[in-house]
Amino acid sequence: MDASTGRTADDSAAHVIVGASLAGARAARTLREEGYQGPLVLIGDESELPYERPPLSKGYLQGKDPREKIYVNPAAWYQEQRIDLRLGTAVTALDPAAHLVTLADGSTQRYAKLLLTCGASPRRLPVPGADLPGVHYLRRVEDADRLRELFTTARRIVVIGAGWIGLETTAAAPAAGVEVTVLEAAELPLLRVLGREVAEVFADLHRANGVDLRFGVQVESIVERGGAVAGVRLADRTEVPAEAVLLGIGAAPNTALAEAAGLTVADGVVTDQALRTSDPDVFAAGDVASAFHPLLRRHLRVEHWANALNQSQSAALAMLGREVSYDRTPYFYTDQYDLGMEYTGYVEPDGYDRVVFRGDPATREFLAFWLADGRVLAGMNVNIWDVTDAIRELVRSGRQVDPAALADPARPLTEL
Ligand SMILES: Cc1cc2nc3c(=O)[nH]c(=O)nc-3n(C[C@H](O)[C@H](O)[C@H](O)COP(=O)(O)OP(=O)(O)OC[C@H]3O[C@@H](n4cnc5c(N)ncnc54)[C@H](O)[C@@H]3O)c2cc1C
Repeated sequence: MDASTGRTADDSAAHVIVGASLAGARAARTLREEGYQGPLVLIGDESELPYERPPLSKGYLQGKDPREKIYVNPAAWYQEQRIDLRLGTAVTALDPAAHLVTLADGSTQRYAKLLLTCGASPRRLPVPGADLPGVHYLRRVEDADRLRELFTTARRIVVIGAGWIGLETTAAAPAAGVEVTVLEAAELPLLRVLGREVAEVFADLHRANGVDLRFGVQVESIVERGGAVAGVRLADRTEVPAEAVLLGIGAAPNTALAEAAGLTVADGVVTDQALRTSDPDVFAAGDVASAFHPLLRRHLRVEHWANALNQSQSAALAMLGREVSYDRTPYFYTDQYDLGMEYTGYVEPDGYDRVVFRGDPATREFLAFWLADGRVLAGMNVNIWDVTDAIRELVRSGRQVDPAALADPARPLTEL
């Protein structure tokens, strides 16, 4: 065996991970921590060391977090752990019957167990002008670098899509002196995720910070003058001037490899609760996986940092033959201006019948709970900390709670 890479002459016993980002790197760490000493190959098509994406729309975009802070592990760690890290290398084909992946350079790699952590890619907008050089996306560190550069020169940009990434980027812009207009097809930001009651809080937040928010609008084209972005034309024929455009209209899971290999795919690579795909030796985790959630009793694909971090560890254990049932309660967070928020639970769009606030949302220091039949499906803490454990317990218990007690700050959440 080559001591630095763990590569052996017969590498059929290798565990291989496709996708070298948070989920892939975390799974590799777990495999080693759990005693797997065999060959371990981590393949990613980005040339950067595995890194975390949340800072790209927050501290890193604003120039507050240095680049070193985004990496999941330092470069030396992969060597120390004898992880054969192959960066800048796409996996182009998967043959589950032969236990073989093919790389872009034509080489092949055999595997004993394979983990797919291929993540997701930004959705494109099929309108004229969407390919202009001044149209940006935000997924990769080089996208964030381009936006940082843009923030030093542009005075006016348009953000299309009032989702998390669009809103976080919008929140980062004023500090750089850039004016933002947000264009959103729905009536409110984040409407499908949060529902009307809490979506209003985010609309108010951005308005209070001087953002021009336009809801219920349809983008017809991105206008070009002299080869550069000049604005965005709406279906009502009005034009919003802009020197650049950020498209934040969601992401789609990178399922092409799995689909071509004949694995079951349905808005993500479908897995059971042990993160095993339709092939017994292939697993999936993170943004790409649509995993059966035993408590929610449905398949769920989420694009959350915590899911990539935790689900990948469970997938690694499953690769080692351990009993795994991944049933973590979904959790995500955002930071925009002076608002920090954590959300714990899961609610289908329109899947709740009542929202209960504890505290006044106008003060931006409150809790919100989404209920159905008196049971808490999800809870959000805004600028209030150290309550997620209690919220998670309420969600997981499935017990009915008194809405008046839920709204009363004097009643500890742990006693409801
Ligand atoms: C700008 C931004 C801000 C975010 N902020 C938050 C936040 O505040 N809170 C939160 O909860 N979540 C946030 N997220 C979401 C979070 O970052 C993702 O859930 C997480 O990155 C998912 O990790 P992953 O490893 O599953 O997938 P990814 O991070 O998408 O990584 C997948 C990797 O696999 C590579 N790959 C794909 N196909 C192949 C192939 N065939 N061969 C080789 N490599 C391949 C991809 O290029 C990529 O490098 C944010 C995401 C972005 C983009």
